[in-house]
Amino acid sequence: MKVYISVDIEGITGVTSWTETELGNHEHRLAADQMTKETIAACEGAIAMGAKEILIKDAHDSARNIDFTKIPKCAKISRGWTNTPESMVAGLDETFDAAIFIGYHSGAGFAGNPLSHTMSLSTNYIKINGELASEFVIHSYLAAKYGVPVVFLSGDKELCESAKKFNKGIETLAVKEGVGGATISINPELSCHLIKEGVTKALKHVSACKIQVPDRFEVEISYKDHTKAKKASYFPGVTQTGPYSVKYTAKDIDEFSATMMFIL
Ligand SMILES: [Zn+2]
Repeated sequence: MKVYISVDIEGITGVTSWTETELGNHEHRLAADQMTKETIAACEGAIAMGAKEILIKDAHDSARNIDFTKIPKCAKISRGWTNTPESMVAGLDETFDAAIFIGYHSGAGFAGNPLSHTMSLSTNYIKINGELASEFVIHSYLAAKYGVPVVFLSGDKELCESAKKFNKGIETLAVKEGVGGATISINPELSCHLIKEGVTKALKHVSACKIQVPDRFEVEISYKDHTKAKKASYFPGVTQTGPYSVKYTAKDIDEFSATMMFIL
C-alpha cells in the first residue's frame, strides 16, 4: 500500500496564532514539534495497515516545518513548493492508494478557526459551484483526479463537520475547536493516539471515501482588497462582478488551480 500524507499547521493541536506558524519565530517550535508528532502518528497508522511507501508533504507556508529527521524509513518527505497547481498535494499521482490530510483548517468564510482561510489571506471567500471551498475541498478534488480518496482528516471541529458532508466515508478527528480568536484543544498526546487509531480504521474502507468530481467549476472569489479584484479581472477568462469580486469557469480542477496560482 502506498499512502500520501499532506500536512498543514493551522489545524494542529494547540496552534492558535499566525506567529506560531511562521518559521523563524520563537513561537513556531512547539507548533512544528506537534506537527511532526501528528505526522508520525499518521505514518504509524498507515504502516500498521501495511503501507510500504509513504510520501509526506509539508504543506504550510515555508513548507519547512516538519522535523524531517524523525520520519519513518519507508517515508519520503517533500519540503518547499513545486510551484505547480497541485500545491498542497504535489507529488500525488495514481500510484497512491489513499491520501490523509493532517492539521487542516476551516476555509475562508468560516469561523471555525482563528486562522480560517483558503489558499491565501487575500479573500473573504472562494466558492466552487456556489459552495464555500476550503483547502480540504480543493485538494480532495485534486486527489480525486488521480482516483485517490482522502480517507482521514484531522483539524478543527468545524472543518471536520463540513468534511463529513462532502465525503461521507471519511474518518475525521477534531483536535480543537475555534471560539472567536481562541482555540480549545485536546491533549496533544491524545491527538497523536487518536490520529494513529483513526488512520488505521480509515484505511480499512478506502473505497467508501471516493467522491464525485464536478464536470465544471463555476468559481466566485470575494477579495478583502478591491485592487486585487481589479488586477485578477485581467487574467484570461476571469470577469469582475463587483468592486471586490470576480468569477471564472474552469473545465476541471487543474484549470481551477492553475488560475488560482495567478489571481490570489
Ligand atoms: Zn497553512
